[in-house]
Amino acid sequence: MPIYEYKCNRCGKITTLLVKGFKEPDNLECNSCGFKDLKRIISTFNSVSSHKERLASFDPRARHSDSFYKDTRNIGLEAERMLMKAGVEPTDDFKTKLDKVRTDPSSVIKDYES
Ligand SMILES: [Zn+2]
Repeated sequence: MPIYEYKCNRCGKITTLLVKGFKEPDNLECNSCGFKDLKRIISTFNSVSSHKERLASFDPRARHSDSFYKDTRNIGLEAERMLMKAGVEPTDDFKTKLDKVRTDPSSVIKDYES
């Protein structure tokens, strides 16, 4: 589900909406002042939302291509999904480690070597 952000044309505050489907929601309203004239902006949460989508579309039983395994952003998806399914919120430590592996996979190897 995409997250859209709207900027209020009166107070300038940002209203964030999780949009079901890909239709612009009706009755848009500023969360701060209730003004109805909002302008859609490029969401700063894009990376978060695309990761959520990646997670949601991830099928652990599916056969993955080489490119899937080469994409470090896919590391730990299965672990994350298992936590989600169990209703467990990942710990900060877990998230930090995952972030580290995803952004710098070689750091893990270094950790093991040291
Ligand atoms: Zn406003």
